[in-house]
Amino acid sequence: MKVDVSNLKARSEEYLPDMIALQKKLTAIPAMGPENGGDGEEEKAKALAQYMEKEELGDIEWLNAPDKRVSCGFRPNLLLRIPGKSTDRSLIIISHMDVVPPGNLSLWDHDPFDMVIMEDRIVGRGVEDNQQGIVCSLHAARILKQLDITPALTVKLLFVADEETGSKKGLQFLLEEHPGLFKKDDLILVPDYGNEDGTMIEVAEKSILWVKVSIKGKQCHASVPQKGKNTLRATAHFIVESENLFKTFPESDPMFRPPASTFEPTKKEPNVENINTIPGEDTVYFDCRILPCYDLETVVDAFQKIAQKIENDFGVVVNISTEMYDQAAAPTPADSPVVVNIARAVKLLRDQEAQACGIGGVTVAAHLRKRHLNVAVWQTITKTAHQPNEYCLLKNMVMDTQVMAYLMMTSKPGVST
Ligand SMILES: [Zn+2]
Repeated sequence: MKVDVSNLKARSEEYLPDMIALQKKLTAIPAMGPENGGDGEEEKAKALAQYMEKEELGDIEWLNAPDKRVSCGFRPNLLLRIPGKSTDRSLIIISHMDVVPPGNLSLWDHDPFDMVIMEDRIVGRGVEDNQQGIVCSLHAARILKQLDITPALTVKLLFVADEETGSKKGLQFLLEEHPGLFKKDDLILVPDYGNEDGTMIEVAEKSILWVKVSIKGKQCHASVPQKGKNTLRATAHFIVESENLFKTFPESDPMFRPPASTFEPTKKEPNVENINTIPGEDTVYFDCRILPCYDLETVVDAFQKIAQKIENDFGVVVNISTEMYDQAAAPTPADSPVVVNIARAVKLLRDQEAQACGIGGVTVAAHLRKRHLNVAVWQTITKTAHQPNEYCLLKNMVMDTQVMAYLMMTSKPGVST
């Protein structure tokens, strides 16, 4: 369908006071998982369900994941379904209800759970991560209703639990217990990461490999080094050798920032306490972010090869183990309908060129991509998530609502527009 852009912009601006009011209501309900000392998301889910009922936005379903650690006994996942002309293909927008703890309260200028408005922004825990996603998707749905549009695709808004602490009771639970929710050709948007002008559409993630290198030699007095086996020297050589990994795994993909795989030595365990002792034991860690085209097994093998060389050269014993081994899923194709449609919306509504990108971190999209579902992570953000004085710009709420409404209005079966 043809979208009346000026009308869409006007409607979203009219809703700004409502968006702020909903943000304030949600911020006042701290929804934290038990790992973060909270009692889960039930109260926040109730407030959201109430809101959706009042606005008559569609059918609501509670998909509860049992969890004895919280007082109600479950972690709620809410589904709002807005029936479209197509019942077998959906546009799904996934936001999370839980927030992280405020941290050191003295770093906040206000009560983190009593949202304040300051000129161009609202400030409070959760306003950007991830209430911006919740509020924008709900107001996009309100615009759809106000304009009396039946979307071509069924629209599903999912408000999930447990994103900040691993998603086992949230998205992972839904994928395992309610797999019918997601279909191969669905368009899925996770508005939980992005950049300041909305030009970054995250479609790929690197694999993460954390390697622990433990070196055993022989401790002795530093005045007679020939009696020992100095593990700090061996460790230093190991790190220098590891520079060759960039040559062993040279692929580069301009979609990623940075474009190549990275192999960074990070943490080192303390060894001896005094200067005149040669250490007989050292442990060092590497954080590697590997392009999805490489099998992590081959990277571990390359670390083993370095270990053998260091053992031969220094007479030490080198043990390699992995602290994190997360093979990335194949990227969402840059020409898949959800990506193309977001870029089209950003062009039409903001006159900006949005691009498909890869990142070195991991988002919940990984769970979906591992099941071969096409998902785009996109949002316009200030990147203050998890920080004191977390804020959300009012204009970002308005503009992201427009993009989501555009997606609801224009996504259709078979092709992207
Ligand atoms: Zn988040």
